[in-house]
Amino acid sequence: MLTIAAIHIGYAQPIYKNKTAALENRVKDLVKRMTLEEKILQLNQFTFGINSNPNNIGAEIKSLPPGIGSLIYFSADPEQRNAIQRKAVDSSRLGIPILFGFDVIHGFRTVYPISIAQACSFNSDLVKENSKQAARESVLSGVDWTFSPMIDVARDPRWGRVSEGYGEDPYMNERFGVATVQGYQGENLSDSFSIAACLKHYVAYGLSEGGRDYRFTDVSPQSLWETYLPPYEACVKAGAATLMSGFNDISGVPATANHYTLTQILKQRWKHDGFVVADWNAIEQLINQGVAKDRKEAGLKAFMAGVEMDMKDGIYLEHFKTLVAEKKIPMANIEDAVARILRIKFRLGLFDNPYTTIVDAKERYLQPGAKALAAKLAEESMVLLKNNNNALPLSNQTKRIALIGPMAKDKDNIIGSWSFNGKAADAESIYEGLQKEYKNTTINYAKGCAFDGADETGFEEAIAAANQSDIIVVCLGELKTWSGENASRSTIALPAIQEKLVVALKKTGKPVILILSNGRPLELVRLEPLSDAIVEIWQPGIAGGTPLAGILSGRINPSAKLAITFPLTTGQIPTYYNMRQSARPFDKQGDYQDISTEPLYWFGHGLSYTNYEYSNVKIGKNQFKKNEKIIAMVTVKNTGKVNGKESVLWYITDPVCSISRPMKELKYFEKKEIKAGESVVYKFDIDPLRDLSYTDATGKRILQEGDYFIHVGKEKIKIELVK
Ligand code: BGC
Repeated sequence: MLTIAAIHIGYAQPIYKNKTAALENRVKDLVKRMTLEEKILQLNQFTFGINSNPNNIGAEIKSLPPGIGSLIYFSADPEQRNAIQRKAVDSSRLGIPILFGFDVIHGFRTVYPISIAQACSFNSDLVKENSKQAARESVLSGVDWTFSPMIDVARDPRWGRVSEGYGEDPYMNERFGVATVQGYQGENLSDSFSIAACLKHYVAYGLSEGGRDYRFTDVSPQSLWETYLPPYEACVKAGAATLMSGFNDISGVPATANHYTLTQILKQRWKHDGFVVADWNAIEQLINQGVAKDRKEAGLKAFMAGVEMDMKDGIYLEHFKTLVAEKKIPMANIEDAVARILRIKFRLGLFDNPYTTIVDAKERYLQPGAKALAAKLAEESMVLLKNNNNALPLSNQTKRIALIGPMAKDKDNIIGSWSFNGKAADAESIYEGLQKEYKNTTINYAKGCAFDGADETGFEEAIAAANQSDIIVVCLGELKTWSGENASRSTIALPAIQEKLVVALKKTGKPVILILSNGRPLELVRLEPLSDAIVEIWQPGIAGGTPLAGILSGRINPSAKLAITFPLTTGQIPTYYNMRQSARPFDKQGDYQDISTEPLYWFGHGLSYTNYEYSNVKIGKNQFKKNEKIIAMVTVKNTGKVNGKESVLWYITDPVCSISRPMKELKYFEKKEIKAGESVVYKFDIDPLRDLSYTDATGKRILQEGDYFIHVGKEKIKIELVK
């Protein structure tokens, strides 16, 4: 029986604790009850555990105030998380739970291919699934929030972080960004296995000058709206909970102090109601960037521009009481920022269920479904770049394979950067994959050389292995530390020692199959002529060996296409498919006179073991009005002998416009399976307002009457927009 006291307690339950109250009422009620100190604490993120990112130096905080807003949780122990959370919930006055964040970039313990590889799959459904699995492993490790996806359009492969995003095209970053957000966040943020996404690095960080990290980005308002903002807008519309402000200085106003991008665009125009966290140390770095004289001013600038959470700097905690007292920061801004952070905590269900359910470590990670997905994604993201005279697949009659190169037995670099909980022991090497695939073949292994350096003493053994074999599979690539953050390179060529190894092997006269595992497009101008076939496997994560072996044997028909252009040489950078037209686009005018201006492999390049014939391109009608929807169709026939998967890429061009537009713009893609000999129809539902319009330098969308071209394969059709 309820006592009167109990009834009173029931009545006295604050609204914010009432699970059935409307979320906004809970937020408002809680903010009303908070003291200024409590509010300021919510705006801060500290770290727990040892940070293995060598670029992020900062003392581990030993004693945490219980009312802290968030933690970057470097431990993967859910029990420890629960202990920390219990302290927050039980010992802080209002019992506000902590938000545990972590960089889950391409998987937690089950490591998937790096993001640039994922984009090459052109399979956004698969990417959604892998993000879902990554979210599950994260939740079970005590993580509520990941600093992913990175949707920075990146066109300079010298920049190490091209590995972390979805390539050179805005639509690709949009499609894969949205798929990733949906995978992490699920139907509902409060679902048991959902985590909050964080879009980064808002915005234009991918344009770092000369590919050097942390640098100035000179972004015109036109390219900001046309190229760099669209993926963010799409992901915000898809419900992304949070964003991270970039390290870059956007045309003189750092991204972390940029009122235009953070407040006017994100909050006022796009109505984002979650919050923005600064990147690591980005607030303090405003001093280095020359817009703040000290930490206090840096904090004031970042906050008033629209950065709600201070990652690790401790500046908000240190100075905000004074800044409020000095009336430099209005209380309304503090309350809005706190409400944004609390809103995400409520949406995640943290108030009602702050603790991680403990499951046995064996059930937490590397579940068969997750591993199968990793292998599937790896298989679909490996790009067959070259295949002269059908050098691949290698028939299973191949008696002897020379497997050579520093990447052949590697298990550490192959998983890629930003894989903190990934373990080399979980990974499958190329060697292991081949052993399983080629049971009756002798595999003559020799390392040949290291990834870098000048030591050629291993060449002799490699040449001997090649001489004893029918074919040479040479596995080269990059260390995982050569891409990711602070990993810019002045050349995108592989170190000379690796190229020399191939030169030496080529002299044996045996066919050379080149396997590349790296985090950026490479300069292959010297290696390409030496190779009969080339497979770009990127950094495929823990399950790359078997998919690659399947591609080599023909069990798997490669289906990936490049999401980023491979320039011929480093000097060709920038080269990306969606450039604007030159004033003299003929007779090599304005081109480099010493080399070809054509890259080695364009965006969208990728071979298969079959051929696809595109025909019968149809459009509902050739003249249409602004508000009409049009359907374009193409029939694709698999004319070869093996089944395959073909991604059809639909582009548009607008040859005459008041603002000159890129020569070609990707607007849609779809991947489907086509059996040998069969034909499949692909459709593109054209929404003129979405697909044909363009933006001006203020973000205004304009749709002009006139001619447009729809491109698919080598086909092109004209359509006309009329009044
Ligand atoms: C990186 C971010 C990352 C953050 C937290 C920074 O150095 O730029 O991408 O999310 O660290 O680890």
